[in-house]
Amino acid sequence: MILNKTIEQWCNEFPGVRDLIDYKETFWLNSNQSAAETVLPDLILSEDDILDAEARLKRFAPFIAHAFPETAVQAGIIESPLTRLSHIQTGLKNLFGKEIDGAFYLKEDNRLPISGSVKARGGIYEVLTFAESLALREGLITEKDNYKKFTDTEFKNLFSEYSLVCGSTGNLGLSIGIIGAELGFKVIIHMSDDARQWKKDMLRAKGVKVVEHSDDYSKAVAQGRRDSLKDERSYFIDDENSKTLFLGYSVAAIRLRAQLQDQNIKIDKKHPLNVYLPCGVGGGPGGIAFGLKVIFGDAVNCYFAEPVHSPCMTLGMMTGCHDKVSVQDFGIDNITAADGLAVGRASGFVGKLLENLIGGAYTVSDENLFKMLALMYDSENIELEPSALAGVIGPLSVKSEGTHIAWSTGGDMVPEDIYKEYYRKGKDLL
Ligand SMILES: *Cc1c(COP(=O)(O)O)cnc(C)c1O
Repeated sequence: MILNKTIEQWCNEFPGVRDLIDYKETFWLNSNQSAAETVLPDLILSEDDILDAEARLKRFAPFIAHAFPETAVQAGIIESPLTRLSHIQTGLKNLFGKEIDGAFYLKEDNRLPISGSVKARGGIYEVLTFAESLALREGLITEKDNYKKFTDTEFKNLFSEYSLVCGSTGNLGLSIGIIGAELGFKVIIHMSDDARQWKKDMLRAKGVKVVEHSDDYSKAVAQGRRDSLKDERSYFIDDENSKTLFLGYSVAAIRLRAQLQDQNIKIDKKHPLNVYLPCGVGGGPGGIAFGLKVIFGDAVNCYFAEPVHSPCMTLGMMTGCHDKVSVQDFGIDNITAADGLAVGRASGFVGKLLENLIGGAYTVSDENLFKMLALMYDSENIELEPSALAGVIGPLSVKSEGTHIAWSTGGDMVPEDIYKEYYRKGKDLL
């Protein structure tokens, strides 16, 4: 029994659940979607919160540019390119027998500076927010100062008395580890077994303490949270519930609006924007979708993309039960090569916030992720990690003459030999 219902009862009430249990690819359209202007005013977060986050990132830009010279060309703003895809369409058509209507773009968070994944938005933002709050409290800085000062020894001394803790399937740990270590924090990352060895190695090389858990991700997070609460100089970054993390992601929408304008891509109700977001616990795609709905309203449709083995958000949205159910409750194993998306229980906060705003959610098999990974390299010369391909299949199922953007969420940090293995696997499957 799951919440007092048998699996059969669940499947009768929500027919899509059967396909999730059978690991079949599914596309769920959200019949609870309502007009953005009626939904947004009642939410716990607003446009002002996004603007506040954007302003904080601007304050930190001089520090970022200095500490991470690769961001100097963008004056310390951590942002990724919006790239038009023109060749992969043929390969996708041959593979899946369907065509994409309208223009197709990739939002390349695989190329985000500092940590090469979407986590460079939320994870880094939350660490900066915490560092700023400490520095303000200790009188080391005011909001009007040049934040390059954050490289000074007195800041490092202050931060070295604090530890940052989080549970991670890999990429969040990388982002927090890199920025945390740079600022001078002690960093402890709890990781699940799915996390790739190279990610653990890279973190340890930066002096980050990595605690490995033989159980799944939710347990790793729970352990991290428990340990951290015992210590008042320990700050826990809560992937499942953090509004700060969420707002860091949401700033992407402001940046994307500027990129669309620069590239003369018109977005309105007649020329809608369709965005496909790989989803794990939901914070990254949720924050981005929230930002996009605030900016574009009903002219944007957001879809969450998950592996067939870890469809926690699809399950939560379909049933309306969000974090009250996990994929494991339904016998779904949560084992996928898309490690960034290997999450069995969605964030309840994100599910609730977006249940009337997103267009839908869908699942994709690991095999198809690998096939598209090879296709992406062969046709566009872009190297992605498996999770980052989940958005790419979405436009094949959405009829729209507007613009399609697949959000490619990670790739740049993957060591070349590991990428070659991924690629070979995809090639073999093709
Ligand atoms: C974390 C991650 C996601 C999804 O973000 P969530 O906040 O977990 O939903 C997508 N792709 C990659 C590569 C990630 O690391």
